[in-house]
Parts: sequence; structure tokens; C-alpha cells
Amino acid sequence: MEYVKVILPLKLEWEPLYSTAEPIHVGDRVRVMLSGHRYVGVVSEAGAVPDMDVSRIKPVEGLEKDVPAVGEGEIRLWREIAAYYLCTVGEVYKAAYSSVKVELEKKMAEALRRKRLSVMSRLAARREKLELLLSKKTTETRAATAEKWRAEIEVMEVDLKKLDECGCVCSAEKDVALSEAQKEAVRQVHDGWSAGKAVLLNGVTGSGKTEVYMALAAETLAKGKSVLYLVPEIALSRQLEARVKEVFPNCMTLHSELTPVQRRQVTTSVRASSPYMVLGTRSALFLPHHDLGLVIVDEEHDASYKQSEPAPRYSGRDVAVMLSVIMGCNVVLGSATPSLESLYNAKVGRFAEVRLSERFHDGEEAEVVIIDTVAERRKRGMVGNFSRKLIDEIRKTLSRGEQVVILRARRAYASFLQCSVCGTIVKCPHCNVPMTYHKDTARMVCHYCGHTEGYTGTCHHCGELLVAYGAGTQKIEEEARQYFPEARIERLDSDTPDSRERHVIERFAAGETDILVGTQIVTKGFDFKGLTLVAAIQADGILGVQDFRADERAFQLFEQFRGRSGRRGIRGRLIIQTSQPEHPVYARLKGLEASDTLLQERRLFGYPPYTRMIALIIRDSDPARLDNMSSALCASLPLSTGVTGPYTPVIDRIGGEHIRHIRIALPRDKTLIANKKSINDAISSFEREKHYYNHITVDVDPL
Ligand code: ADP
Ligand code: ZN
Repeated sequence: MEYVKVILPLKLEWEPLYSTAEPIHVGDRVRVMLSGHRYVGVVSEAGAVPDMDVSRIKPVEGLEKDVPAVGEGEIRLWREIAAYYLCTVGEVYKAAYSSVKVELEKKMAEALRRKRLSVMSRLAARREKLELLLSKKTTETRAATAEKWRAEIEVMEVDLKKLDECGCVCSAEKDVALSEAQKEAVRQVHDGWSAGKAVLLNGVTGSGKTEVYMALAAETLAKGKSVLYLVPEIALSRQLEARVKEVFPNCMTLHSELTPVQRRQVTTSVRASSPYMVLGTRSALFLPHHDLGLVIVDEEHDASYKQSEPAPRYSGRDVAVMLSVIMGCNVVLGSATPSLESLYNAKVGRFAEVRLSERFHDGEEAEVVIIDTVAERRKRGMVGNFSRKLIDEIRKTLSRGEQVVILRARRAYASFLQCSVCGTIVKCPHCNVPMTYHKDTARMVCHYCGHTEGYTGTCHHCGELLVAYGAGTQKIEEEARQYFPEARIERLDSDTPDSRERHVIERFAAGETDILVGTQIVTKGFDFKGLTLVAAIQADGILGVQDFRADERAFQLFEQFRGRSGRRGIRGRLIIQTSQPEHPVYARLKGLEASDTLLQERRLFGYPPYTRMIALIIRDSDPARLDNMSSALCASLPLSTGVTGPYTPVIDRIGGEHIRHIRIALPRDKTLIANKKSINDAISSFEREKHYYNHITVDVDPL
């Protein structure tokens, strides 16, 4: 009898032991029972020495022979993620290989086997018949039939070969021609790697970071090593996908829009291919990587790299760096607006920073124009949500045949509805947030829990008329249609169905639309050649967030947005309508403020990246119990400093559950690991003692 330790897809702090008579190896997938439930787990240790009464150890029920084993590198990555993000290895395993996937993998393996058998038997039959035919006297008809059968046999042989090897070899089929500045950047990236560092490619928008990534990928593939190219989200990856596939036709893509079967296919071909290249969102980190030579993290500052639900609550950027360490491969993080975390890492020498400060198509960065909406309103210079100045600029741009993007950070028609008489604001019955008004569907929608109600136009309390406040993208689109009746206008936000999204982007890229109105999504990564004017309506909503990252985010958003305009020699413009023209973010955009002011502020206030932040989120349907438990939890934390809370967040009720937060700021020194562990232990024992399970969520490096 042998004993193995098994990782189960659960929030389980330990890895249970099972006995087995047949040989089982690390990485094998096994069926086991735990507390009356059956799971498919991964063997994490073979030949384990039992530290308990062996008669109580249950046997492994069976080996999942159809599904491929998990690599040791994958298990190492899971362990690091679990340790860093204070979750269990099982939770990471569950995220990487959900139980649905096991069934699917088995079905696919089974289908493949059946197909293979059927091709083989048909092939054997044909060969036999052909032999028989050839043994007979040759006639003209017989010769023709023999020819036909030979061709069929050939096709079947090719099919069989394809079934046996679902992998492919990826390489650059086209040269990536770089500018001098880009070549110099590539040289510096290599210097950084030679010094054993991760590289931060800090290049202005339009400098051609993508070309640099592609050149680095081509070199890597040419050496027989694989490449993982990460992007923050799918909308962004479409334009990129086309560009990358032109150079690397065999590049695979993995994103959330794929069906489970398609995802499985990517997994299978990653396993079978060498070298391969994958372009994908953060979940591509969990593919069965092997022979990896390079990980690229595009737009590394983007908040979409963070997974906030469920555990592991990880940052794709940071896990990419972990993966590169485990795989012993190179990593490059790139952005025009690097995160303060990465700038800090460059400052302390952990990352090598490479700058690319020249735009590829010459031309200056877009000019920044600030319009003071308060002053304009006083001068009667506002029409609805647009200033006359902006309307004028848009008209001029359109008359030159150029394109315009308008950013409004809120979707829907109105952000809230208020009664004109009693002042009641319509709120979601489950969340402490106002319902938004979607005029096109005549519904009121909660953007937090998805609850919807029909719009009646009257107050629940007094029956008087409701007034819509806070124009959203729908309202802005409606106004734009009024001011620019000739223009072809479309809208892009998360209300745009996924299926339509790609067409909206394609039409704008092809110059078939003139104005695109959208939320934050329009500020990201797109390369539209006719776009010369970008404008933010009511930018105050972007600045007004109560969060220490607000200024960093606002700056990144405006700077990225600015980068979308004027990319082909024509100087672009970024127009911002705001009631706070004096806000320091605008001075920074105009280059009037030192670039590391934000870092200095963070240091002064003890915020990340100078400390490590851990957020504890406590949820409960009973507010009194929630308050008691939150205070008790806070008191039970083994730290004398750095703990704030419990406090009530701005949105203190979502989906019927009340919420409290606790924030912990830990020094980034030798005590960090021990501190994290003691926090984790304190939470576990708190949950046990108070029987308060499934209420506390731990978020390391919250965004
Ligand atoms: P970034 O990602 O740095 O903002 P992009 O990679 O989108 O910049 O490049 C901006 C534009 O310049 C794109 O249209 C791209 O096709 C073009 N470009 C950049 N480098 C090259 C190059 N080496 N050869 C041809 N076109 C290039
Ligand atoms: Zn709600």
C-alpha cells in the first residue's frame, strides 16, 4: 500500500491522504471521497508517510486515466498564488481546472478515441479491399477504383496523423521591421533580462510597443521557446489578435468568450505544441505551460488584470511575474502609464525600466484642452451636457472627415431618478445604490446586483413625476444625435451585447462611423487611424472617487484616452469638460507636475506600493451581527498598527447583504510573510471559534 496527498477543488486548508495499490504519480488526477462527496483531485505528493492511523485512510477510488496529468510547474504556481493571496491551493486548482472541465476533458478524450478507432477500422477495411482488388486481373474499371481508394486511404492517413498530434509549431511568418528607437528598446530589454530582471517597457502611446513585443516573441519562438502574451481584456485583444495573427498565424487565443469546448481545445494544443504562442486574458496563466521562454504583459497598469471574485483574488500581472520565475523565463511588462507598483519596482531596482519615448508615426502627443463647465454655464456656454466650445470643435473635426470619440464614464441614460416633489431617490431594494434609468428598454436597473424594474415615471411614495439626473452614455448619445444630425453615431459600453461589440469597433476602425460614444472601454488600446478628437464629458465622475488610487487611475485613463487620438501624423486633441479645472490630474496631463508626485504621496501616507494592503470584506444579511463580528474580528487581529476599520463602505449593501471593510497595511520588509501568515491564522481561528464561516473574504493587494 502506498499513500498519496491530494489537492481537492475546495477551500480546504490541508491536503488529505489516500491509499492506493497501483502506482500513482504527482500530477495524476484521481477520484476520491471526502465527507461523503466525490471529487477529482490532483496528487501533490506520492509516497507520503502517513501521520495518522492508517486504518482511517480511505483508498483512492480511481485514476482519471483519460485526462492529462497536471505539471509540477503548475502545482508550484498554485502554491505560490495560494501563499501570496491567502487562499487555499484547492481554490486555485478549482479556478485552473473546474469540475466541469474534468467531465469535458473526459468526453473530449473519449470522442477523440472513438474517432480514431473509426478512422482506423475504415482505413484497415479499405486497405484490405484494395489488396484484394490488386490481386485480381487488372481492368480499366478496377484500375480507376484502385486509384480512388488509394486517394481515400491517403486522406484517412492524414486524418489519423492530425488526430494523433493536435499540436502545432508557431513561428513568425513575417518579418517585424523595427524603427531605430524600437531596436534600441529591444537591446535594452535584453540587457535587463541578462541582469536577471523583469523588464518594464515604459513607452508613450503610439510608440509601437506591440511591434517590440512581436519582435521579442519572434526571437523567442526561433529559439524553440514558447510565448504567453497577456492582455487585460477581450475587447482590446480583437484588434490585436488580427495584428498578431498576421505575423504569427499559428498563435492561439484564449479569452472568456470561448465555449468550454474551445477552451479545452486550446489547453490540449498548448500541451501538444512546441513552441507555441498564446494570446489571452489572465486565465491563460493557468494553461499547462511548458518550455516557456517569454511572458508579455500588455497594458500592465490595467485594473482588469485583477480578479476580484472568486478566490484566488489575484493580479494577472503579478502572477505573470511569479510564473516567469517558476519557469525561469523572461518577462516584459509594458504600458504608456505604468502602475505605481511597477514604477516602484523599477525604482528599487527589482525591474529594469526601458523607455520608448518616440511615437512611431511622428507627431506630437495630443494637445490637452480643459473646459470649465461651471464658468461656461455662467456664460450660457452649455447646451445640455455639451459646451458650445466642444460642439464647435466636434463640428470642425467632422467637417475635415476625421473621427471623434466621446467618453462618459457612466452607462445607462441616467445614473439616478429623483422625485420632483418629495425628493425620494429610487434605490435598489437589495443594494444601497440608486437604480439607473435605461431609456431604450424603459427599465430601471441596479448595476450592482442586476435587479431590474419597469420604469413608470412616477414616485413610489407620492406618485409625483420622477426627474432623471446624471447623464449616462445613452443620454449623451441622444444629445449628440441632436447636435450632429448628419454624423453616424454609435455607442459602446457594457450594455452593448458582446456580439455587437466587435462590429461597433470594426465599423469605427473602418471609418464607417463618425462619432463613438462610450464608457472607459473606449479609452483603451484601440488604434483608430481617423480619430483626431477625443472628449471627456463630466470628467468629475472620474475624479470624485474616495480611494487612494483615484488620482493614479484618473491620470492613466485620461493619458490612455489621449493616446487614442492623432496617431497618423495629425496632432490629436483631448478635450476635458470638468467643474474642477484646477485638479492636479490635469496639471500632470499637461506635463506641469513632476511624474513621481503620486509615489511621494503614497510614501507619505503609508499606502501601497510602500506597504502591502490586505482588505477584509465581511458580509452578513444581519446588520447587527455584522457589526459585532466585524469589531470582534478587528480586535482579534494580531497587529498593533496598520489596521483600520471596521468601516462602512460607500456602497454598504449589495444583493441583500450588508458589508463592512477592514484594511490592513503591512510594512514591506522581512516581517511581511510572517505577518500575512498570522493574519490568515487569526481569521481561521476566528471563523472556527465563532462558527462564522463564509462571511469573511480576504483580498490581498485590493484595487
Ligand atoms: P502602442 O501600443 O505603443 O501605443 P502601437 O503598437 O499601437 O503603439 O503602434 C502605433 C502605431 O504605429 C500602429 O498603427 C502600428 O501599426 C504602428 N507601428 C509601430 N511600430 C511599427 C513598425 N515597426 N512598423 C510598422 N508600423 C509600426
Ligand atoms: Zn441591487
